[in-house]
Amino acid sequence: MRTRRDQQSLSYPLRLPDSIQADALRLLDVSREVINLTVTALWGRLDEFATRTNSYAYKQVEEMIPPPLVHGHRQWRCEAEQAGRILRGQAERKQHFALILPLLTQGMIQPGTETKRAGKDRKAIKQAVADLQEANSDGGTAVEFQSLIEQACNFYLHTGCFPQTYEEMQPVAVLKAGILPYAGDDGPQMGQTYRMSYDVDQKTLTLALRTPDDQGAWARTWREKTCQMRLPDVVVERVQAGEMLAPNLREIVEADGARYAVLDFIVEVPVERASPFEEIQTVLGFDWGVRVLVTAGVVDLDGNQIGRPFFLDTGPFDGRQARLRRQIDQLKAKVARLKTQLDRFPGGDPRRKPSEEVLPILRREISRCWRKYEARNNDLAHLAANILLVLATAFDCKLIAGESLKSMKSAGRGRGARGRWRNWRNNSQVRGELWRVLRYTCFLMGMRLEWQQPRHTSHVCPRCGSPANTYSSPDHHDKINDWGAWLCCSNPACLWNGSRDYAASLNIARLGAALIRHTQRTSRVKHPSITDPSVQPVSYIGTRAALRLPPLVPRGHLIASGRIYCNGWRLSVKLRSSYATPIMLRFCG
Ligand SMILES: [Zn+2]
Repeated sequence: MRTRRDQQSLSYPLRLPDSIQADALRLLDVSREVINLTVTALWGRLDEFATRTNSYAYKQVEEMIPPPLVHGHRQWRCEAEQAGRILRGQAERKQHFALILPLLTQGMIQPGTETKRAGKDRKAIKQAVADLQEANSDGGTAVEFQSLIEQACNFYLHTGCFPQTYEEMQPVAVLKAGILPYAGDDGPQMGQTYRMSYDVDQKTLTLALRTPDDQGAWARTWREKTCQMRLPDVVVERVQAGEMLAPNLREIVEADGARYAVLDFIVEVPVERASPFEEIQTVLGFDWGVRVLVTAGVVDLDGNQIGRPFFLDTGPFDGRQARLRRQIDQLKAKVARLKTQLDRFPGGDPRRKPSEEVLPILRREISRCWRKYEARNNDLAHLAANILLVLATAFDCKLIAGESLKSMKSAGRGRGARGRWRNWRNNSQVRGELWRVLRYTCFLMGMRLEWQQPRHTSHVCPRCGSPANTYSSPDHHDKINDWGAWLCCSNPACLWNGSRDYAASLNIARLGAALIRHTQRTSRVKHPSITDPSVQPVSYIGTRAALRLPPLVPRGHLIASGRIYCNGWRLSVKLRSSYATPIMLRFCG
């Protein structure tokens, strides 16, 4: 994703129709060979790529070497563009390596052993990485530095010394899966390697690719061989709001070795500027739950809770995921049984045959189930992110506050596949994906998203700030249960009680409000903890609870009676609150 100040490129992978899959994969194989030959040939001149002589990478490469294999001039340019991008990325990484090299030699980093992780003085390393970032503010994030440090430590583990040069630890960066950026060609109408047009009303994309045939010959008539693809609604919307850029052709290789080609349809869209902190008046806080996926609440900077909480309940969805998980478990058990069967006979024995035939089928089926499982998780994350955004918009919140992902609490419990699914959902993929979607969508919408320290947020009263215990339910006040769903304030003058997730979402919103107040006063962002005196308790004002929702858009994506349907997916979840009116919203991913 390329980012300029007020434009952002968004990429949408569209699977090519089966009719041109074979041609596209053949093209990607040929291009990959040329790209890898080019990168290998120029690897010794990596430093030259630290300076950009031109905004197009292909121009830089073209000045340096002729094409190693010739398949047409524009085809070479696209290949050179990709080779140049790889070399530029590696050159930048090499510069970062020069910055961490002194740290390695000073012995600040000790390689890890089997029982101890790498890093002698974590605090010093953290500080050093922070200083590096400061000194190198144009690029280079902490994550990149970390990955370089790790790579250097791995090198140490294999060789017994740290690398002296970048090239010593980094083999030539060749492509393992094909990718061909069409940015080196002359555009969708004039292109000599591809032609592309779209029809917004029909929601279709027409594409022609210049590819070699199975004899390796490049036909002149390729422009006549067009194919059509459906453009998803979200892409159509983006195209209408932005500008289409040159696409990439890319190969996806799955775990079982199966591969297919996609077209990365790239749109550049304008980005709203982030709301200035001075203008922020309300904060939406959300918390991950055990029984519900997400609970959200809104507070203002004066310590008032605005409106009632929202609970995103995923009941039927959980059940379906649990069934899929059970199916995977059964398939795995079958594979294990067949493997034992197989091992009873020596290699070449005809009695191995039945098992040998069935095993690949079962393994394919398992990977199909996992893909489906993950796809559903991602859908759920998108849906939840969109609901939070809609609520933030409705309540005019310019800041969304969420629990930091660094401290994922293990909250999922329950037996069997369903319990396991909840546990997994709460702790991994859905959270990560939800955060990722929120981050980029907030960025596009000019909304702020800030993580908050989750510590104690489920054990503090949102009304008065006193410590609070949790219990299994409102009827079980005699026995404290740290994972209980019901929270009761222990301050005798308050005694607020309610859902633990509800309390946590308000506490996280309070943290967000404290962050805003602090930033408005000092112009510095600080993430307070819930026990910090700057964090105000909240009172509830029912009268200000009127929902200002966006206008109704009857487009078939919808909510009826509080149930939300995500368009295009058989996925429905329930959004509960005490608002009586059914809410109708339109979602886009
Ligand atoms: Zn209280």
